[in-house]
Amino acid sequence: MSELGVASRPSPIAGLGLFATRAFVAGERIAPYSGRTSAEPPSAATSDGKVYALEITPGRWLDGSSEENPSRHANHACHPNAEMVWDEGEATAWLTALKPIAPGDEITFDYGFSLAESLFHPCACGAADCVGRIIATPLRPALRRHLRFSRPRD
Ligand SMILES: [Zn+2]
Repeated sequence: MSELGVASRPSPIAGLGLFATRAFVAGERIAPYSGRTSAEPPSAATSDGKVYALEITPGRWLDGSSEENPSRHANHACHPNAEMVWDEGEATAWLTALKPIAPGDEITFDYGFSLAESLFHPCACGAADCVGRIIATPLRPALRRHLRFSRPRD
């Protein structure tokens, strides 16, 4: 179907998603997440309300909003099957399989959002233990505490 091994189509998680058109083995590069890097965070969301900006290393941002970026529709999920790996030598981020991926599987990765960012970005990945917000895996216990303490009491 696609030379890239991925295609964008409507996703049960959100909007368009990125789907495998062939199998990938764990550790295999799926597709580049291409875009310009900068020392300034690109505006958090584009006009369509979607987020394509990633902090690839501390203080360095990648703006993946270009139509040229084949991975720009990859969604976040609480149990992703891929991760974003920054290759300093190539100056390219690669969506890389964390586990075997079958043709037709939606490709997801951890957006790595901070607690503050997560409050504005609901997660609808459908996992039984979905935390309900897009947030970096190590921060989930902190988010659960925050949500517990910010709940109105009666
Ligand atoms: Zn989720």
